[in-house]
Amino acid sequence: MLGLMQPQQLLISDLIVNAERHHGDVEIVSRRVEGDIHRTTWAEVSKRSRQIANALKAENLAFSDRVATLAWNGYRHLEMYFGISGSGHVLHTLNPRLHPEQLAWIVNHAEDQIVAFDMTFLPLVKAVQANCPTVKKWIAMCDADALPADSGIANLVSYEAWLGAQSDNYEWPAFDENSASSMCYTSGTTGNPKGVVYSHRSTLLHAWGAALPDALNISSRDAILPVVPMFHANAWAVPYSAAAIGTKLVFPGAAMDGKSIYELIEAEKVTMAAGVPTVWQMLLGHMETNKLRFSTLSRTVIGGSACPPAMIDAFDKQYGVEVLHAWGMTEMSPLGTVCALKGKQMSLSDDAKRAVRLKQGRVVFGVDMKIVHPETGAELPWDGKTYGDLLVKGPWVTSGYFKLDNANLLMDGWFHTGDVATIDADGFMQITDRSKDVIKSGGEWISSIDVENLAMAHPAVAMAACIGMPHPKWDERPKGWFR
Ligand code: AMP
Repeated sequence: MLGLMQPQQLLISDLIVNAERHHGDVEIVSRRVEGDIHRTTWAEVSKRSRQIANALKAENLAFSDRVATLAWNGYRHLEMYFGISGSGHVLHTLNPRLHPEQLAWIVNHAEDQIVAFDMTFLPLVKAVQANCPTVKKWIAMCDADALPADSGIANLVSYEAWLGAQSDNYEWPAFDENSASSMCYTSGTTGNPKGVVYSHRSTLLHAWGAALPDALNISSRDAILPVVPMFHANAWAVPYSAAAIGTKLVFPGAAMDGKSIYELIEAEKVTMAAGVPTVWQMLLGHMETNKLRFSTLSRTVIGGSACPPAMIDAFDKQYGVEVLHAWGMTEMSPLGTVCALKGKQMSLSDDAKRAVRLKQGRVVFGVDMKIVHPETGAELPWDGKTYGDLLVKGPWVTSGYFKLDNANLLMDGWFHTGDVATIDADGFMQITDRSKDVIKSGGEWISSIDVENLAMAHPAVAMAACIGMPHPKWDERPKGWFR
């Protein structure tokens, strides 16, 4: 006997329809690369994402054709998230840290048809465009009058002119929830980058899971600042979860220095911020130097690389901000574990709580994990001491890479993360090492402000600063930037 519930497919367009219908007046605030603070709402983002869908229709793309972005966190990128996937195309978020040769390789491998980019990345686009034959159109994410006349880029249009010419009357199509919705390339220190392809179904389940109280704990009363980039692993689901829940979003754009982030948190009454340790190091340094306090920030999600104990202490003891240590990877959409204490741990001493918080945490329901012996594959005990290869499975974990032979990727349905970990009796996982690929590209986000400045002045060196990628300029990475 089958259930009698409605067989409605889980689609990304549902998220933006929901955000407009139920939370249309909730603000989306962005620090733009133009330098100003821009304010819009979920209703307006929804309207403009429909205009994008119409603009893509006018481009005569086929279902599942890839449309790429090369952009910071901001409202235009958010509109692209929904407009591209919602209309049945695949949003391909490109990582601007890559060396131009690698970027071109990825664009060609994904067969991107259109690339939309923030003006910061104009030098990078100039460097790669001649080597990207599949790209029919380049879209500069700026006003029509800001479009450079002499860029040398064929088929270049401004985002506002491209979108502004379209009606906002558009009916989101219905299709199989297992259709590809977006993709992101991941890379280690060996081999070519690998394309991870998310589906509408995996994205919605992941957005639900990420919003749960023992995960990112997202509510409509929050104002969230995702510093984690939207070009890497979906900004940890924040754009999607926020649309599902009706949360205010505050985007930092390219300015990730401590002063800019602090000002945004205070001015926009941010309650939760998500990012990697490097960014928080800059914020804490700025606060310490200027003797500042937070007035609304209550928690911060820290992941991408291990959160240093001193950082947990500083947030917790000095500023009263709860640290949620999280772990995941591109292949996991990316959320795997979050370190939310269990009820029985709330009465532990401060030191004992701190010891738990240093771990990468417990699985979010939907993901399962285990540790195994690296040679025999035998499952290892959850005693908090024995370490082994960390394997995961679940509906938002990859089952294969784009255009690769994936026959031997999974081990009895489990994905090999390449991380080495312990798991304790309460199910808290702690990373101890990495077994394969040595270091992945996006685990840590180096100072983006430095990258931006460098990208303007010395694009080759800036791009050579990317981590975890083999390339000819490898030794040109500025010292001190490598994790
Ligand atoms: P990526 O797929 O590029 O985002 O890189 C994912 C990898 O970053 C993971 O497999 C880990 O090696 C590392 N990573 C992510 N979060 C953490 C964390 N909280 N602690 C330690 N390593 C992490």
